[in-house]
Amino acid sequence: MRLTVIGTGYLGATHAACMAELGHEVLGVDVDPDKIAALQSGRVPFHEPGLPELIARHTASGRLRFTTSYEEAGAFGEVHFVCVGTPQRADSDGADLTYVDAAFAAIAAHAAEDALLVGKSTVPVGTARRLADTHDTEVAWNPEFLREGFAVEDTLRPDRLVFGVASSRAEAALREVYAPVLAAGTPLVTADFPTAELVKTAANAFLATKISFINAMAEVCEAAGGDVGILAEALGHDDRIGRKFLRAGVGFGGGCLPKDIRAFAHRADELGAPLRFLREVDAINMRRRDRVVELARGLCGGAVLGARVAVLGAAFKPDSDDIRDSPALNVAARLKLDGADVTVYDPEAMDNARKTFPLLGYAMSAEEALLGADLVLHLTEWPQFREIDPARARSLVSRPHIVDGRGVLDADRWTSAGWRFLALGRPVPAGEGI
Ligand code: NAD
Repeated sequence: MRLTVIGTGYLGATHAACMAELGHEVLGVDVDPDKIAALQSGRVPFHEPGLPELIARHTASGRLRFTTSYEEAGAFGEVHFVCVGTPQRADSDGADLTYVDAAFAAIAAHAAEDALLVGKSTVPVGTARRLADTHDTEVAWNPEFLREGFAVEDTLRPDRLVFGVASSRAEAALREVYAPVLAAGTPLVTADFPTAELVKTAANAFLATKISFINAMAEVCEAAGGDVGILAEALGHDDRIGRKFLRAGVGFGGGCLPKDIRAFAHRADELGAPLRFLREVDAINMRRRDRVVELARGLCGGAVLGARVAVLGAAFKPDSDDIRDSPALNVAARLKLDGADVTVYDPEAMDNARKTFPLLGYAMSAEEALLGADLVLHLTEWPQFREIDPARARSLVSRPHIVDGRGVLDADRWTSAGWRFLALGRPVPAGEGI
């Protein structure tokens, strides 16, 4: 089939490449000419494992092309996927639908009469109906569940597909698009528009709630002298609860969960079906960042003014260069504001971090960041940070103080190498007074 993918960011570029991999002719469309030029030359302007290879292969073969022209897109595509951003609004915690509305209007103005416009962006429930009522071209909604860092795998082999459709024609078109994925046994859920939209926001709300649940338990452990690591392990043995998303730490960030739960709570209020607990899920998450700042101050004798702080991590999670709402950079920036001399290292997100936080210091390696540090904060769970040798690290720093904000470092190894080691939700050794 001939498909267009409108909006070629993390979601759209991956979707376009994977649709080409499934055998379709694909045209990616974006309003950002630099992004389009990069992608057209086979280069991916962000970090996503496996994606550069797919883009290079399919742009070279001509099966995947990119353009800024909606005219060209309208003439080309039978099915148009809309993958533009839905950030938080500046004036409220609702979703900003400016880009979605603009993309639908632009493609509807040029699409063939019998084309199908398929929304993939995460939107407040009611958006698909509104767009379907606004445009003559048929609309469907096909929410996306991919995880950055596993985006290619998740697109080619998803846990499930969800089609929000208003006609059997739309369902048939989507079945044809995803034929190889469905043939591999992927479960398909077809639904009306509101249910399809809600599957995505409900999934994100559930995951955020699970993370904030264990982080709330971490707060109680801190107050009661318990150990959330042991608590989570014991909980995770219960099949009904499971181990996933049950690691206490500095919390979630990124371009999805934080803004999606806020937009969901906002929309639920508008509908008169409030989801008040989601506001608390958000608040717990933000309090974990406060806790890291508090521990940092405690380890620096009450104030970080003048202290050299090494921050390991800038991306909101490993295997990504995405720094949107990154807990690591939020903490780093707050310590900088408090007068600390902060040096950040991240394996992939340095360019993005530098652009957004130009006043922070940056190192070319974890070892360089550690040199002369009074305090080390481990805030993004990159595997290479777990491999740091505590004895070697001790020889580099000025004072061997570390906060593990991700709950994955081996506390015994670090303490036996002479480090003062603190982690969220773990007992603070007697006499440390934090
Ligand atoms: P992004 O910011 O990386 O990409 C959005 C792209 O849309 C940008 O390249 C931008 O230039 C382009 N764009 C904006 N207006 C446009 C227009 N009128 N026409 C064409 N292009 C336009 O965002 P993203 O992370 O890819 O997220 C996109 C959507 O997908 C959001 O709704 C997000 O919540 C959802 N989503 C994202 C992920 C993820 O992991 N990133 C996963 C699932 C769902």
